[in-house]
Amino acid sequence: MKYTTLGRTGLRVSKLGFGASPLGNVFGDTDAKESLRAVHCAIDNGINYFDVAPYYGRTLAEARLGQALAGKRDKVVLATKCGRYDSDSFDFSARRLRESLDESLTRLQTGYLDLWQAHDVEYANERQIVEEAIPTMREMQKLGKVRAIGISGLQLRMMRRIAEAAPVDAILTYCRYNLLIEDVDELLTPFAETRGIGLILASPLLMGVLTEGGPPRWHPASAEVKRAGARIVRFCAERGVRASDVAIGHCIAHRYGAATLVGMATAEEVLQNIRAAAQPLDAEMIEGLRRTVGSVASLPWPTGRPENQDFAEMQKLA
Ligand code: NAD
Repeated sequence: MKYTTLGRTGLRVSKLGFGASPLGNVFGDTDAKESLRAVHCAIDNGINYFDVAPYYGRTLAEARLGQALAGKRDKVVLATKCGRYDSDSFDFSARRLRESLDESLTRLQTGYLDLWQAHDVEYANERQIVEEAIPTMREMQKLGKVRAIGISGLQLRMMRRIAEAAPVDAILTYCRYNLLIEDVDELLTPFAETRGIGLILASPLLMGVLTEGGPPRWHPASAEVKRAGARIVRFCAERGVRASDVAIGHCIAHRYGAATLVGMATAEEVLQNIRAAAQPLDAEMIEGLRRTVGSVASLPWPTGRPENQDFAEMQKLA
């Protein structure tokens, strides 16, 4: 396993990070014992970076991860989030964030977090994130309850504006750097790099689109993106390789992203993905795959408030 430093935080993270949203049954029911095994298998095989949130399974993922990490806390870089609590429940007020932190620490059975992130900021008022949430998070950092702070979301332009107005240590993006969509490099990477902000690239499998099992029923991508994903899976299968391996290798090879977060539910997936992360990138294969799949209108889907969308086309849909 390779490790890098997340921006200027001093946190050394494994290039492949463990996304713990499946522990909250986000992609279908995950067996409690198997998820425990998955976490232990990840640690035993060099993954040290774990990402979770109170929202995943409405606290279930944090509680399961906390149990799995008992006695192993010093081996990991532990990240969770605040401000989002359900599909339509958000609260980024100072009071709620302080409470939320203590609740997360209890569930995760730890005295501090390595990284604490405002979750899906596009659902919030931008001024509140800049003027209330981030200053509160910095306060918690001064108290030693968190080592670094960040923001996460799908809409990149808003996250850039926020980080310009109220500096953060890390930005977590998802579904914006993968075999079908790569626009993080246009909208955010150069900015993050210039400022030394740690960049985390999540969901390289496009939340299941780039796997043989395909996306979950709730997946918000367009039918065109899903069809293109299925073409990629087929292209890989015809060549005897797994699309998930190619997709993970591609994301890990990003020139600035410190870590790639993959959601993992079983020890088998963990071992498969660790092998994928260690493989050299097959640039020719990716080139061929792109030629075969052709161009796809790769706009992401709308999330959050209309005014926070990356593109005008998405404002109308939000
Ligand atoms: P993903 O692209 O990592 O896909 C996860 C899905 O792929 C799960 O169903 C998983 O079981 C499956 N999978 C994993 N490895 C596989 C393999 N080898 N073969 C077949 N299937 C495999 O999407 P994700 O889980 O949404 O994203 C990764 C993590 O990033 C999340 O768990 C979460 O921690 C983080 N994340 C954060 C935000 C945010 O903060 N707003 C948003 C999305 C993701």
